[in-house]
Amino acid sequence: MPQPFSIAIHGGAGTIERSLMTPELEQAYREALRLSVLAGHAVLVSGGNALDATVAAVTVMEDSPLFNAGKGSVLTHEETVEMDACVMNGQNLDAGAVTLIRHIKNPIQLARDVMLKSPHAMLAGDGAEAFAFKECGYDYTEQDYFFTPRRYNELKVMKKTGGVALSEARYPDEKKHGTVGAVALDKNGNLAAATSTGGLTNKRWGRVGDTPIVGGGNYARNGNVAVSATGMGELLMRCTVAGDIAGRMQYGDASIEQACRDVIHGDFLDLGGEGGVIAVDANGKVNFELNCAGMYRATVDESGNALVAIFADEALRVESNS
Ligand code: ASP
Repeated sequence: MPQPFSIAIHGGAGTIERSLMTPELEQAYREALRLSVLAGHAVLVSGGNALDATVAAVTVMEDSPLFNAGKGSVLTHEETVEMDACVMNGQNLDAGAVTLIRHIKNPIQLARDVMLKSPHAMLAGDGAEAFAFKECGYDYTEQDYFFTPRRYNELKVMKKTGGVALSEARYPDEKKHGTVGAVALDKNGNLAAATSTGGLTNKRWGRVGDTPIVGGGNYARNGNVAVSATGMGELLMRCTVAGDIAGRMQYGDASIEQACRDVIHGDFLDLGGEGGVIAVDANGKVNFELNCAGMYRATVDESGNALVAIFADEALRVESNS
């Protein structure tokens, strides 16, 4: 029997409406999702591990200016970029996270290095960057690299209201999310999750979201599930969304669909949380759950085709090379 393996990715969720999307922008998102999920899938096909597959997929989205991670991250109140990222290896419950990162092109790779090359699980700010430059040989990336005019305009709007918002907010009172993430099961039965974000537009005072919090926005445990979340981080964190999904499956025997549905439509929604999760279980079953208008998302079918969807009411469909 061939061993099952699978991967799923997201590029954020929120008020993603057809009326706001030009055909060109929609196509650009679909193509970026296709390239990301296929990058991760290629690692799995060649026998690579789930951790490296998720990092490969997330790296593609960090390098794209379309998503709120790496290049294209949202701006803080001080007009800077501060990024968070986390990886988790379900094989040994090992995890690596970084927060308040300003000068590393791919925070997800640094999160993996924190896990593999440091004795710690989370490093923050200047200390995390010192580890990157001095211990791991990372290049220094200027803040200019991460900036895009789109994020600057969003910040200007947000500053007028004094609020904070997810990256895809059309108006200040709307909430959208552009965090990126991947979950995978490899041919050896290992689960992994990776999530990366610029956080919220107009965030202040060293704000940290759910993304680097194990069990908040990211979790993986072999035999159980791998989860990556997107949405308002304060609520994802307070509801320990990723950990709650895993717990319901581990101790309550919930299916992946049931666990994701109950958590995303439970306390998280009741408290005003908007967002979604991607998950893969120990059999390679992939699940997407959201409580808002859309979530950029993709997986790969058994023939190796990328399946992509954006809007909530849309089924995944084959996305071919454009
Ligand atoms: N969860 C992220 C945060 O709060 C934002 C997002 O998903 O776009 O930092």
